[in-house]
Amino acid sequence: MTSVHLYDTTLRDGMQGQGMSLSAAEKVRVVRALDRLGVHFIEAGFPSSNPKEEELFGLLAGIELETADVCAFGMTRRRGAAAEEDDALRTLVSSVAPVCTLVGKTWALHLEKVTRVSKEENLAMIIDSVSFCRGHDKRVVYDAEHFFDGWRDDPGYAMECLRAAVTGGAGNVTLCDTNGATLPGEVAAATASVVAELGERVQVGIHAHNDAECGVANSLAAVEAGARMVQGTINGVGERCGNANLVSVLPALQLKLGFDCVPADRLKLLTETAHFVDELCNLAPDHDQPYVGRNAFAHKGGMHVAGIQADVRTFEHLDPELVGNSRDVLISELSGKGSVVSRAERAGIELDADAAGRAVERVKEREHRGYHYEAADASFELLLRREAGSYLPLFRLESFRVITEKRADGGVETEATIKVWIGGQRYVRTAEGNGPVNALDKALRSAITDLHPHLADIELVNYKVRILDEHQGTGAVTRVLLDSSDGHTGWGTLGVSENIIEASWEALVESLEYAFQPKDAGAESTQPVTSAGD
Ligand SMILES: [Zn+2]
Repeated sequence: MTSVHLYDTTLRDGMQGQGMSLSAAEKVRVVRALDRLGVHFIEAGFPSSNPKEEELFGLLAGIELETADVCAFGMTRRRGAAAEEDDALRTLVSSVAPVCTLVGKTWALHLEKVTRVSKEENLAMIIDSVSFCRGHDKRVVYDAEHFFDGWRDDPGYAMECLRAAVTGGAGNVTLCDTNGATLPGEVAAATASVVAELGERVQVGIHAHNDAECGVANSLAAVEAGARMVQGTINGVGERCGNANLVSVLPALQLKLGFDCVPADRLKLLTETAHFVDELCNLAPDHDQPYVGRNAFAHKGGMHVAGIQADVRTFEHLDPELVGNSRDVLISELSGKGSVVSRAERAGIELDADAAGRAVERVKEREHRGYHYEAADASFELLLRREAGSYLPLFRLESFRVITEKRADGGVETEATIKVWIGGQRYVRTAEGNGPVNALDKALRSAITDLHPHLADIELVNYKVRILDEHQGTGAVTRVLLDSSDGHTGWGTLGVSENIIEASWEALVESLEYAFQPKDAGAESTQPVTSAGD
């Protein structure tokens, strides 16, 4: 079977999308999820273009991946300066990533109007930059920016740019439809020409944008014309109308076109991975999303259901289980018994068949109320522990109270009082904070760290709130997603309530309770943030 490589750029191009923002620790969680799915290349970003990226590459240095290579992204050198004198390129080759992805100009319009570089100098910039990275033992992916627009204007020069990258030693040249302007027929024709000339010497890739809603179609057309790498993002996130959606590209390549992309058991993680990235980005998963949406294989109406019962092929384009989705419209992929058992195993929790059955029912019931556990691994684990009988409560709540006072001079003050029982002892604590959640956190910590001092070091790194409109019938429901870290590992918890403070409290308590549970030495329950230095 012929292989096609998947190149994910969710963490770089995808982050250009409106409202997209992930912390370094969250990006590491995405890297791990993509690696588990079997993606071949993960573009992490520009090394040290800002402190967040620097932190990310630092964290990635301590991580071993199973299937993926990390790619660092940068540009060809500045004009009129040697590659080795270009600070950005030097930073790029000194990063931990084994692959450097270099983007460069291909379209004369950009050379004239944007960079004001001659065609000859542009070719020299490509050769120098690629060979500089090769000289530092990096594999080089060359992203030919605006390739299809350049091809339309001047195919000879567009091809010259690719030849320059090959001369410099690039292992891959990727044809970018940066403006998303091109339609599949043209993508196929141009790609076929490139493959005919360079396909023996270099792998050809496709990087499509979705402005004409052809991101996926263009990617598939390019592969059918001989491209062997597809760049895209999970769920098609990205600037303007987004990038090619790898979540749709992958099953089409593998299940419909017969290419070898990822092992079948990893392809089953597709639905889970797509929803995980949505949840982490604080986006509501699209129920109508092809392959992975809740409705993708839902059947309504008598004739469809009867057809499905007679033969699933009557109304289904493929077997939903192959991509980790379900015909039965389970509330989520987590509510299957198999996935509950495997998640428990991963966390080192012993769960017998009865407990697993109860956990499934509990997940279904809670998901109906707005709990979605894809990005809340720690809350999910606590749920399993409760059913397995291995849950240790941290404290017993008697009550809490929060007061927020707004003054005429504009000042706002918040104070929280909690009354809890810990180890047979009653604690009453009051704390001030910069908001109700912060005040509650401080008050609770001051009570519990008396007996459990290690819980003082837990940091709340991220707090996200979403109003779930799917529950409008019963009044708006607030969901809070909280990411915590002890400096070594990170975990996610959630809370759901009509009251935002109660939802926050639930997520906060679960965060601390999770850290309090005894950990099985062999368990891989949380996402290691780093193993560097320890
Ligand atoms: Zn792009």
